Amino acid sequence: MKKMKIVKTINEVREIIKDWKKQGLSIGFVPTMGYLHEGHQSLIHAAGENDKVVVSIFVNPIQFGPNEDFASYPRDIDRDTEKCREAGADLIFAPEASEMYEPDFCTFVDMNGPTDELCGKSRPGHFRGVCTVVSKLFNIVTPDKAYFGQKDAQQLAVIRIMTRDLSIGTEIVGCPIIREEDGLAKSSRNTYLNPNERKAALVISRSLNEGRKIIESGEIDLNKVIVKVKSLIEKEPLAKIDYVKAVNADSIKPIDKADGRILVAAAVYIGKTRLIDNFIIERNAADDSNNA
Ligand code: AMP
Repeated sequence: MKKMKIVKTINEVREIIKDWKKQGLSIGFVPTMGYLHEGHQSLIHAAGENDKVVVSIFVNPIQFGPNEDFASYPRDIDRDTEKCREAGADLIFAPEASEMYEPDFCTFVDMNGPTDELCGKSRPGHFRGVCTVVSKLFNIVTPDKAYFGQKDAQQLAVIRIMTRDLSIGTEIVGCPIIREEDGLAKSSRNTYLNPNERKAALVISRSLNEGRKIIESGEIDLNKVIVKVKSLIEKEPLAKIDYVKAVNADSIKPIDKADGRILVAAAVYIGKTRLIDNFIIERNAADDSNNA
């Protein structure tokens, strides 16, 4: 089995990366908040197309709102180390918050537009925190490619736009959503669910699936799709909808008509746990009308 290193400081990462670059090795990077599952591991596997794979484990305080779950977010570095080893990582970067943020830290990366909808709307400041930490991590790791899950579809779109806008030379690779056998999207936050809530949580993927079928069967009016998905979720007494919305998957602009790359995304509270899920479907309205 290959050797995997765990480091906590930016300088240690820089030394290792410098050495790898001197040898002409390519670097794949997987940023995470830890409490790893098969979803994260699928990104680490995908990053295996590079010579070296770096995983960061950092629960980033500045992407959590004051009433969110920063303090209770699950953490287990020993378990995560094993999961990284299993998946074939070469280096874990697991800094303390003080390593990433000096007491007088005052520089942030912010975005207008793509962060106005969905989670950006429900979680003010969230993407400012995400863009800032991902920029920092990119500057530390300087990866050739970085891997993000479609599970966080808005985040994936935002990071693609940010790297383009800031001319960051890292290629962003999107990876499919990994699900439990019954369809629930894997998430570190699933651990918050009690058995009843775990059952109830299935309503999210099931309802989104119905939405996808409606679009597949030729429905053009996305508002009708959203109304149907919402009504299905509302049937579950433990579920409370934060949002269900259709947007363009690349720009995150709201859309009414099924045309282009459509992202239908949902955020739903199951009890106190906020879960997100989505699907992306491609339609060409011109084709549809030609076939009509
Ligand atoms: P997190 O640790 O939740 O910040 O997630 C770190 C990365 O793993 C992000 O790019 C997520 O989109 C990705 N990820 C989380 N859950 C899944 C999943 N079920 N399938 C695929 N990717 C995932």
